[in-house]
Amino acid sequence: MGTNTSRPDASTAQSSSSSSTTARPLPPGMVLGPDGKPCKICTSFRNWKPPVGTTGNTTTTTTRGSKSNKGSSASAAHAIASSTAAAAALAASASTTPSQDDSWRAAHCPPDVESLGRATWTFLHTTAAYYPDAPTPTQRAHMLQLLHSLPQLYPCSHCAEDLGTRIQRRPPDVRSRASLAAWLCATHNEVNAELGKPTFDCARVDERWRDGPKDGSCD
Ligand SMILES: Cc1cc2nc3c(=O)[nH]c(=O)nc-3n(C[C@H](O)[C@H](O)[C@H](O)COP(=O)(O)OP(=O)(O)OC[C@H]3O[C@@H](n4cnc5c(N)ncnc54)[C@H](O)[C@@H]3O)c2cc1C
Repeated sequence: MGTNTSRPDASTAQSSSSSSTTARPLPPGMVLGPDGKPCKICTSFRNWKPPVGTTGNTTTTTTRGSKSNKGSSASAAHAIASSTAAAAALAASASTTPSQDDSWRAAHCPPDVESLGRATWTFLHTTAAYYPDAPTPTQRAHMLQLLHSLPQLYPCSHCAEDLGTRIQRRPPDVRSRASLAAWLCATHNEVNAELGKPTFDCARVDERWRDGPKDGSCD
């Protein structure tokens, strides 16, 4: 599968659109898009913008949109919000804890590969959780269209490519709610494994995505 890391054979990135034409260091975890340029939606924010002082932080490509650098934060604030209040809020957020920073980013910034992934899995698992037990042929066709469209349309190009390969290897089972949820859970687990994340217990898929835990903690 494509990974969440930079191309293993590439330690530098060339950017023809940048003012600089020299080879530049590619930060670890940065993912290049099909055009060979750093791909923001394919990269985790922490790899797109490593902490100040790490390798690759000095390039034009990797300093855009910084919030860990207070000077860049102030510039970003002026770029995205002309009001003094907005600029002050942004500057304040740059000095908050990482979790507060994440919540600020979730509310104000374009998604990175992780937040897009979480939102997409939420949509897909929830849609599967409410899919009919006995879908009509039309409902099955719509679900197949949705799933087969993802490899064509998903903005993270290497994620999309991987999903296309998985769908070819193990086609979606849209015969029932249970079979679709199981297929999706297995597919998500394949991605989890590739990313070194724990495997999810598919017996708990309804609890996670439809019913909530028996102790009522989500009611
Ligand atoms: C189609 C697709 C392909 C992707 N490919 C890549 C990739 O190549 N590289 C990359 O870096 N990122 C990829 N991602 C993003 C990645 O899968 C995660 O979404 C992202 O890393 C955030 O992970 P997370 O730990 O927050 O939880 P997520 O993996 O986003 O999961 C969200 C929640 O779903 C539940 N969950 C976890 N596993 C399962 C399961 N098997 N069944 C049901 N529920 C489950 C858990 O409660 C979890 O908190 C992809 C996302 C999608 C939708």
